[in-house]
Amino acid sequence: MQEAKKFRRIGVLTSGGDAPGMNAAVRAVTRTALARGVEVMGIYNGYNGLINGEMKLLDARDVSDILQRGGTMLYTARCLDFKTEEGMARAIEACRENKIDGIVACGGDGTFRGALDLTRRGVPCVAIPCTIDNDISSTDYSIGYDTAVNTVIQMVDRLADTCQSHLRCSVVEVMGRAAGHIAADAGTATGACAIAVGELPVDMDKIVARVKACKEAGRHHFIVMVSEGAGVTQELTAKIEKETGIETRATVLGHVQRGGTPTVRDRVIATRMGHKAVDLLLEGRSNLVVAMRKDDITAVDIEEALRMTKSVDRSLIEMNEEISF
Ligand code: ADP
Repeated sequence: MQEAKKFRRIGVLTSGGDAPGMNAAVRAVTRTALARGVEVMGIYNGYNGLINGEMKLLDARDVSDILQRGGTMLYTARCLDFKTEEGMARAIEACRENKIDGIVACGGDGTFRGALDLTRRGVPCVAIPCTIDNDISSTDYSIGYDTAVNTVIQMVDRLADTCQSHLRCSVVEVMGRAAGHIAADAGTATGACAIAVGELPVDMDKIVARVKACKEAGRHHFIVMVSEGAGVTQELTAKIEKETGIETRATVLGHVQRGGTPTVRDRVIATRMGHKAVDLLLEGRSNLVVAMRKDDITAVDIEEALRMTKSVDRSLIEMNEEISF
């Protein structure tokens, strides 16, 4: 183990795409550090704030009343400068000037790469996985996913009501640029006729046949769940309408999936991960991503985390196909 360094002040930031539960993580990081006698610098707008000196010391009250809120009180941004040598040098200098001994960075893979670069240049970092896509390979669970998928099923239940009244088909596009986890879970949870994800070949003829079979079986609503990564929403919508004669509409849920009050799962896991991240830093450990394995909160080396892969649960999609008619 590395020799423990005396930490007087740590920084906390949120970066990349926002996710419900980020606030709970920021609160847990802040309160854990303060409870251990360590100051906390809240860094605004992701790595931008580090480069531009947008930061302030947080006290316990600064993180009151945020546990239950979506979004992130520290704001988040993408920072291209941070990927340059000059930007990185400014970030290191800002840490020195502001007496920041280590950083907890909440975000996705891009954020982890930034944390890796900072650690290599002498600013120890621990990262917390946050993304509604749940596609971070090193952890079974990423903060924000449960809230997002619950938002999706609420929206789809509403759509199903109106589809049922009009004997209509809805092709619902959900988020997940490179990952179909939201589509697979939300499709199963709403009894979608078919689920299409980018990781698996999309057989549009088979999807049309499934919608027809659902109609013949006496169904009155037809939901087809499509991950944005599949890239077939408009084409599939037109094809279903043309080949089944059922009025078919595309609904792209978009950013509504990113907001909202975090579920109990997101609040609890974010709190546990935030607490763990500070524990690790104060133990003198860094270059780590906090991870969930089964029900345990543990940590994985960032380089190793970035090399790992995670696949969509194909058996869930197949099971849904068998029973949704
Ligand atoms: P996410 O963290 O959600 O994956 P991004 O990929 O946009 O989101 O990354 C967030 C930020 O992390 C970027 O805007 C940039 O500041 C930083 N970052 C991303 N990739 C790298 C990299 N290769 N080296 C250093 N910093 C990076």
